[in-house]
Order: sequence, then C-alpha cells, then structure tokens
Amino acid sequence: MQNFQETGLRNELLDAITEMGFETPSPIQSKTIPHILSSDQDLVALAQTGTGKTAAFGLPVLHRIDPKTKNTQLLVLSPTRELCIQIATEMEKFLKYMGDIKVVSVYGGAPIDSQIRAIKRGAQVIVGTPGRTIDLINRRVLNLSNINWLVLDEADEMLNMGFKEDLNTILATTPEDRQTLLFSATMPKEIQNIAENYMTDPMTIKMAKRNVASDNVQHFYYLVHGSDRYEAVKRIVDINPDIYGIIFSRTRAEAKDIADKLQADGYNADALHGELSQGQRDQVMNKFRSKQLTLLVATDVAARGLDVNELTHVINYNLPDDSEVYVHRSGRTGRAGNQGISIAIVSNRDVNRIKEVERFIGKTFEKQRVPAGEEVCQ
Ligand code: ADP
Ligand code: MG
Repeated sequence: MQNFQETGLRNELLDAITEMGFETPSPIQSKTIPHILSSDQDLVALAQTGTGKTAAFGLPVLHRIDPKTKNTQLLVLSPTRELCIQIATEMEKFLKYMGDIKVVSVYGGAPIDSQIRAIKRGAQVIVGTPGRTIDLINRRVLNLSNINWLVLDEADEMLNMGFKEDLNTILATTPEDRQTLLFSATMPKEIQNIAENYMTDPMTIKMAKRNVASDNVQHFYYLVHGSDRYEAVKRIVDINPDIYGIIFSRTRAEAKDIADKLQADGYNADALHGELSQGQRDQVMNKFRSKQLTLLVATDVAARGLDVNELTHVINYNLPDDSEVYVHRSGRTGRAGNQGISIAIVSNRDVNRIKEVERFIGKTFEKQRVPAGEEVCQ
C-alpha cells in the first residue's frame, strides 16, 4: 500500500498522522489496518520491533471507536509502565482531531487514585500493565464487560515477565465476542496457547523475519582489553560529538558505575535501571527524550521497548549472551527510516560471539579501531 489515504481511515486520523510525519504505511500497517477496519476476526500479528505496531492497531481501532459511548471500548495490555505511557501518548496524537475520545494509562508505581478518577470521568481507551489492570478490576473501577477490542502488545514479553496468570484473569472478565489483536515479535509455544485458548479462528500476519535486524543499522565492533571497555566508550563518544545513544550494561551496578564515571568525566550521561524509584526513572527518561541527557546507560529490562526517536548509537558495553537481546538493543536505533549505528565492545574472551550474532542477525559487523587518545585530543 502506497499511502494512508487508500486504507480508508478517517480524515481526522489522516490529518493527525500527516502532522506526525507518517507518509507511507509500514508493511505491518498495510496488512493490519485494512483487516481491522473491515473485519471482526481476531488477529495474531508478528513483526519485529520498530515496525510501527502501535499505529498498526491504534489507527484502525480508534477509527472504529464510538465517541458517544463513554464506557471502555478498547483495552491495550502492555508489559511495562514506559510502554503504556508511550502507547497512550502516541494514541493521543492520533486522536488530535477526533474529538471526545479519552485515553487513560494505568500502571504500577504511580498513585492509583488519580488513575481511578480518570477512569471514572470516562475513558473509552485504557492502556495498562496487567498487574494494575487487575487491581482496578478488583476494585470494581474498571469494567471490561463491554469492550469491543482487546490488544495484547508485546505479548511475548508479557509472558516472559510472568504475566500469564494475570492475562488469564483479565481475559476472563472481557466479553467473548470481543476482537482480540495480539502483537508479538516472536511466536513461542505460550503465545500459540493463548491464541488457541482465547482467540477465535485468528488470522495470522507474519512479517518476514529473514533480517531480524533493521536494515538501517550498521554494526561495528571494537576489540579491546577487558579492562579498557570504559576507555573505549569514552573515545567512541569523543569522536562522535553529536552522539545521542544508549549504552547497554549487564547489571544495575554496572550501569550505575559507567554513568557515574561518565558524569565525573564531564559527559551528559545518566543511568536507567530497576533500582531507581518510578519518579527518578521518569526524570531520567524525560531528560533523555528532551536531549538534556545525550547518553543513557541502561540495563535491558529498563530499556525494553523504549521508543526514543533519532538515536544515533547503541553501544553494547558487553555483548549479551542471547543474540535475540542484541536484536532488541540494536533495534533502538535505525527506527522510522533513520540511520543508526550499533557498536559492540568485545575482548579476546568474547570476540567469538560476534560470529554467532552475525549468523543470527544475518548481517556482518565491521571491525573498527579504537581511536588513539591523541586523535581525540586534536
Ligand atoms: P513497534 O511497536 O513495532 O516497536 P512503534 O509503534 O513504537 O514500533 O513505532 C516506532 C516509531 O516509528 C514511532 O516513533 C512511530 O511514531 C514511528 N512510525 C510508526 N509508523 C510510521 C509510519 N508509517 N511512518 C513514519 N513513522 C512511523
Ligand atoms: Mg510497540
């Protein structure tokens, strides 16, 4: 599909996405938008990260929502608080010209009272984490008995995070004739089970996974002594003065350590990891989004799914043991048509992992030389 006009979406939505800079539908959007607009059939959609899945379900469902009915019509479940906020924010942008449709996001780590008040004022769209959603159902604040659409976003990740029982509980409170839309990057057995148990004759849309890694990303590696990782990162940053990137570390302690050192050395860096309070995490994320911070040092869990546009670099302080994790990390850059660079710092001990990652992603890494100190100073 060449343009969004052909999809049959309302002009109000088309105007909004034009303002957002969307020109052509992504491959997954070309498939899901016409399907959801024209059919109540359940859908399993498999596509890698950064392919525009939020709009793939958000646009057609928002097109179909009835603004006159104030009760909850759409529930989107998503694994983390950050993703919920991101999805709700994107939906609100889609709704700019659509009038009276309210989106409320609900997640833990934030006061429940304001979420309750927002729901009571009337919310046709709820975007929530499974845990907080159940809490609100139990308090009889959230009533899902009339929803028309249920979206399971990043379904594989929700299962990885142990939300299986919660999903069962939530699904049981929704009407059987709802349309269920499941989005996932991968299709493990548990997702098949969900599809079999909770979906009716779903259609499956699977985007080619040959190139699991985005085409817009170049992969580089730097071979260093294990103890020189930090120095290498500093020099890479120094020769890329416009860098705006995430440095992935294995542990919270390591993230904190790297961020502390970078700060002490005068860089705009901070850490994002699970030990921070929700308020602190928000603060770091806001600074990073507004580019007050240009380097975010994060663990995988903390950075999962974060959609920050225009990242120039992803730096793997260590290569992850699981190549799939590398795909997720490098997928933080090269999004929405931008170019990105994903860097792995390796030592003699883990340089062989490069080959394994290359096989997995179907791309090759270019070996780079760590810039010498003098080059940087001049
Ligand atoms: P996913 O959920 O598949 O990881 P997102 O829905 O978060 O991907 O989209 C990634 C980024 O691409 C977002 O910033 C989004 O606004 C942008 N985007 C989505 N669809 C389009 C499009 N058709 N044209 C341009 N940008 C898009
Ligand atoms: Mg997404």
